[in-house]
Amino acid sequence: MADFSIPSDWQQLIETTLAFCDREVVPLENENRELLENERFRFDERGKLRLEVLELKRQIRRKSAEAGLYTLFGDPRLGGEDLGFEPMALVFEALFEYAGPGRTLIEDVVYPSVLTNGLSPVLNEMSEELRSAHLADIACGEVTLCFALTEADAGSDIWNMRTRAERVPGGWRLNGSKQWITNAPYADYCMVFAVTNPELHRQRKPGGVTAFWVPARQAGVSRDTVLPIVGHIGGDLGLLTFDDVEVPDAWVLGDVGQGLRLALQAINKGRIAIGAKCLGLAEWALQRAAEYAAHRTTFGTRIGEHGQVQAMLADCATDIYALKTMLAHLAWKLDSGRGGAAIKETSIVKVFGSEMACRVFDRCMQILGASGLSNEIRLEEGLRWSRSMRIPDGTSEIQRKTIATQLLRGDMKF
Ligand SMILES: Cc1cc2nc3c(=O)[nH]c(=O)nc-3n(C[C@H](O)[C@H](O)[C@H](O)COP(=O)(O)OP(=O)(O)OC[C@H]3O[C@@H](n4cnc5c(N)ncnc54)[C@H](O)[C@@H]3O)c2cc1C
Repeated sequence: MADFSIPSDWQQLIETTLAFCDREVVPLENENRELLENERFRFDERGKLRLEVLELKRQIRRKSAEAGLYTLFGDPRLGGEDLGFEPMALVFEALFEYAGPGRTLIEDVVYPSVLTNGLSPVLNEMSEELRSAHLADIACGEVTLCFALTEADAGSDIWNMRTRAERVPGGWRLNGSKQWITNAPYADYCMVFAVTNPELHRQRKPGGVTAFWVPARQAGVSRDTVLPIVGHIGGDLGLLTFDDVEVPDAWVLGDVGQGLRLALQAINKGRIAIGAKCLGLAEWALQRAAEYAAHRTTFGTRIGEHGQVQAMLADCATDIYALKTMLAHLAWKLDSGRGGAAIKETSIVKVFGSEMACRVFDRCMQILGASGLSNEIRLEEGLRWSRSMRIPDGTSEIQRKTIATQLLRGDMKF
């Protein structure tokens, strides 16, 4: 018989993570409520997070690292615990179900955007020189990173990448720019993907892109622009420009020509993390809506008694259960090695997760009437966040393209 119970050590991990939030995150949030909750205080006039907010985030990362949480899902080559996809999905789900949307400091507990920060998979093959100079600071949360792949004309179509790295004695010279990069305005170091073999890249063949480690404060790097999205007045997405930036050979991440392989490995992990985060947030939203439906009365009865409200609650639950089941199955496939790379299943979880979170938040807002539209209950924040998740780590259309391509190649088993 299949066993869906959560092993006690994973349950313990979930409890430790949530207890950490109660002990370390909530008191800091309470002390800094206005700064963290009100965007007019959280961001400066250029849309950047204020230094006080960045300092609070740094404190949480450091404490999380001390508690052994920050590096839980990193690769053992980097000193991470590499607990696997099943516990990763469970911890992210629990963390976001506990927190709900819009909690600025929660992201710093275990870095749910697994490719951007902390022990990013892009660092797995970093050189000895980089490792000894930077790994300790990354693992303790002192410094942060960004994953710089997308460009103005190279999003889904990464073969349009224009950023180039040319050979110079002892290293490489980078020129180009990147756009929509999470944490670019604040990162200490960038993991930058650049074309090193233009001919191969022009032919859309693998081997033409290399990943580089670039200090964000190095001469020639500029990154002043914040790119706010979905109605926010500031944010963490930014532009990066590289103007004759020289880096030594030891700052190549992995092998020359293997950048896209590293990027895709990281993005695949990111897709599963997005699925888990969508699941937790959708559960949080449904709890708010169900509580409201049980108390609010219209026409002399609780709104939860009206068939149309019941249908919305039931549709949310159906979406949530579908994602929960498919995420658990995907994580099991990957951890047990019985599903190969599970390419179509990973895309299914990403597209279904991000789209179902939009549906769930939208229905829950409807159930709360005008209160659902006010951001006091943070449903509106959740809808904006869910909407944004249909774009990164491969848009919904790119996921569907991947699923169909796999099917047409004969990958028909689930
Ligand atoms: C919140 C957020 C965080 C992000 N963080 C990062 C980051 O940290 N690092 C990074 O490098 N990038 C990041 N990105 C960028 C993201 O990866 C790109 O935005 C994404 O790949 C889409 O590229 P694009 O915006 O250029 O859209 P385009 O690729 O131009 O697509 C435009 C539209 O055309 C559709 N489309 C494109 N090609 C096809 C096709 N073949 N078939 C069908 N439809 C197609 C798309 O689905 C989309 O609807 C982030 C984006 C967001 C929104």
